[in-house]
Amino acid sequence: MNLAERDNNIIWHPYTQMKTAALPVPIVRGEGALLFTEDGKTIIDAVSSWWVNLYGHAHPHIARKVAEQLQTLEHVIFAGFTHPAAVTLAENLLKVLPEGQNRVFYSDNGSTAVEVALKMAIQYWDNTGNPKHKIVAFRDSYHGDTFGAMSVSSRSAFTAPFWSYLFDVEFIDVPVPGKEAQAVEQLQQIAQQQDIAAFIYEPLVLGTAGMVMYRPEVLDQLLSICHANNILTIADEVMTGFGRTGRTFASHYLQQKPDIVCLSKGLTGGTMALGVTTCNEQIYTAFLHDDKAKTFFHGHSYTANPVACAAGLASFDLLQQEETQQNIARITAQHAAFAQQVEQLPHVQEVRQQGTIIAIEFEAGGTSYFSSLRDKLYNFALDKDVLLRPLGNIIYIIPPYCITDQQLQQVYEVITGMHDLV
Ligand code: PLP
Repeated sequence: MNLAERDNNIIWHPYTQMKTAALPVPIVRGEGALLFTEDGKTIIDAVSSWWVNLYGHAHPHIARKVAEQLQTLEHVIFAGFTHPAAVTLAENLLKVLPEGQNRVFYSDNGSTAVEVALKMAIQYWDNTGNPKHKIVAFRDSYHGDTFGAMSVSSRSAFTAPFWSYLFDVEFIDVPVPGKEAQAVEQLQQIAQQQDIAAFIYEPLVLGTAGMVMYRPEVLDQLLSICHANNILTIADEVMTGFGRTGRTFASHYLQQKPDIVCLSKGLTGGTMALGVTTCNEQIYTAFLHDDKAKTFFHGHSYTANPVACAAGLASFDLLQQEETQQNIARITAQHAAFAQQVEQLPHVQEVRQQGTIIAIEFEAGGTSYFSSLRDKLYNFALDKDVLLRPLGNIIYIIPPYCITDQQLQQVYEVITGMHDLV
């Protein structure tokens, strides 16, 4: 039996209909933007392996720092103890996060970063003697697969079996052009209720919704409404963080500052599972109390794992390098040029771009994850040795920053050939 068959006998993969899915592609090595298969093929990873990889696969700097950390301290309980990697990473993050963020809470992934944010926001109001329980979210958002994160995500086919268990959320429209005034109006109405604890949002780009993009000015308006009505604001920068949108954080395009920020994915350059939830002083101080019941009772066995924090520190070094900033600018410019070409093609309904993220929406096929067009587009690209993971009729590129111009051109060519499939 080869590796794919051995896998298929015993492993259950995420987001995969195991009855009909093709055998998984065995990857034995990665380097830069490339993945190498067991049978000798080279695949361009145009989606950074679920949007996590920023500086390339098996990056030597991250690998070295992770190896050093493993040989020094692999793990230690994070209640009552600390270690250099966690402290230094927190210090570094606070230097670049939106103004006002000054406390760092560690967890394991994007969903847990969101769970922590929601629990922090709800307990904040409880601790301050003004209990509020409802959360506002964008109707098409995605914040993760745990129950709290599902609750604030869109009521889609992904979450349908669990709807009766999800907590009550007030949804507003995503303020895409044409719906801006409507979304603002909806939030204004909801803000009149007394029970609204927080508003959670993916700033500027809703990833899983199909790389749906909206203007910073309208988000500023929404955040102003929250601030005027004592509603906490939670920026889910799990996907948009660390340069993806052209600035270090999407929140840097805004005048208004979030109260809480969620990070994961690119935090370790795509090497180790790590989540971070940061908050401002106002939230943190609401948990300081002689009454121990006001403590934030949340944690995970691997909270602030030193190896993951070391990967975070090594990634941070790379983020600071001039070369990374140049690469982000280069990819942004290449995408802009490609956008002009691709929007001329038949069956292309819309092209959207924000920094290193570009999305091409085809006019047919529907946005559903279950659409047959989605599978056709996926297989078409994979046959040409490019990893793209369409969201229904939307194809997007979110590459590692080290992708070369030649590799990018190869990805563009594959997408250019796709309009015939629509
Ligand atoms: N938040 C956003 C905006 C995301 O895009 C994702 C994942 O795609 C998550 C949260 C969940 O992160 P994870 O898959 O690490 O649980």
